[in-house]
Amino acid sequence: MNAQPAAQRRLLDLAELDLRIRQAEHARTNPTQAERVRELIAQRQELTRELTARQGARDDLRTELGRIEADVAVVDARRQRDEQRLTTVTNPKDAQGLESELASLARRKSDLEDAELEVMEKLETAEAAVAEAEGRLAEVNDEGARLSAEAKTAVADATTQVEQATRDRAAVASDLPAELVELYERAAQRSAGAALLRRQTCEGCRMVLSGTDLAAVRTAAEDAVVTCPECGCILVRTEESGL
Ligand SMILES: [Zn+2]
Repeated sequence: MNAQPAAQRRLLDLAELDLRIRQAEHARTNPTQAERVRELIAQRQELTRELTARQGARDDLRTELGRIEADVAVVDARRQRDEQRLTTVTNPKDAQGLESELASLARRKSDLEDAELEVMEKLETAEAAVAEAEGRLAEVNDEGARLSAEAKTAVADATTQVEQATRDRAAVASDLPAELVELYERAAQRSAGAALLRRQTCEGCRMVLSGTDLAAVRTAAEDAVVTCPECGCILVRTEESGL
């Protein structure tokens, strides 16, 4: 088919706008932050599991500590009661019995205090482990929130670009012969659609035209629409074409 060289050159604008629309469309549906956000979601699940396990371990230690403290209170109450009785008891045998019980209560209390100390140390470690997991989870959540906000802005920008480029494309296409646009669109399904022939090279596929192909392009009428023998896109000829 034939078309004015100026109209053929406008096809380069159309191809450029189509490329811009595709890129903006890709940016809109696949914001660069998406992959990292997916990673962070996986990390958050992992960390939440870890945190729950650590909180469980800490709570068990708190329960254990509470039990020991209750036992200490029982021992203290009995000691107080025995000491009180000892001041009023007159029978030496009863007094001996109370003293022996007091000695055993003192040993029991000392054992309980050792156990209490041990659990308190473990609890301190467990609480630090919970705080550490909470800190990491907060970092992941912060990064996730920041990237999600960035992605939202990027998607909004890309949507604006798609809309703008689509309007520009419609304006360019409406100025061109419908047949030429159709030919371009058919070619665009498997190639750049239209590309500059620069220094004997198709800029759509980077192929250097061979002697015969070049001769055919050279002898074609100025308004003839020629295509790249390699990729099939419309070859736009200018003074840079090297013909
Ligand atoms: Zn080509």
